[in-house]
Amino acid sequence: MKRLFCLVLNRAFMPFDVVSWQKAITLEWLGRCLVIEYHPTEVARSPSQEFPVPVVVRVSSIRSTTVMDKPTRMMIYYRDNFRCGYCGKTLRDHELTIDHIVPKSLGGTWSWENLVTSCVQCNRAKRQEIWVPRYAEPVKPRFLFTKYLKIARSVDIETQEVWRRYLACPHRKAAP
Ligand SMILES: [Zn+2]
Repeated sequence: MKRLFCLVLNRAFMPFDVVSWQKAITLEWLGRCLVIEYHPTEVARSPSQEFPVPVVVRVSSIRSTTVMDKPTRMMIYYRDNFRCGYCGKTLRDHELTIDHIVPKSLGGTWSWENLVTSCVQCNRAKRQEIWVPRYAEPVKPRFLFTKYLKIARSVDIETQEVWRRYLACPHRKAAP
């Protein structure tokens, strides 16, 4: 069976954790969570039974995760899906750079709103100009925790598609 993971939402439907599918099934079996979505195709099999695999569950916790005000380089790459904000090329982290949308020389700061993932070519061509990133939304995400970041890139497409509905927030502006 593939490496499957389950997104855990809190009482307010805000994502705050990722657990293994085994843990998700256990939580469900113990009645400690409400399953919101099952995996569209995968099932877990025991010799005599088949179990649908939860990919999104909700628990009654009020825990939440907050996003740091100052992003790190990696956080910007993850927010932008490792894609150049100017030409849309997807690259690996060592092939990417961080670009100040409003250049530092014009007063641009190191902030969620002013940083974008850029390939080396675009970064060089842009120089001290101000370009509008067409392939990224330079906003502070509402949700971005390390565990999710690590896992989100390794889960299968079906899971990613289901999760996307609950993670619609990453590219939306932070609530005031
Ligand atoms: Zn580029």
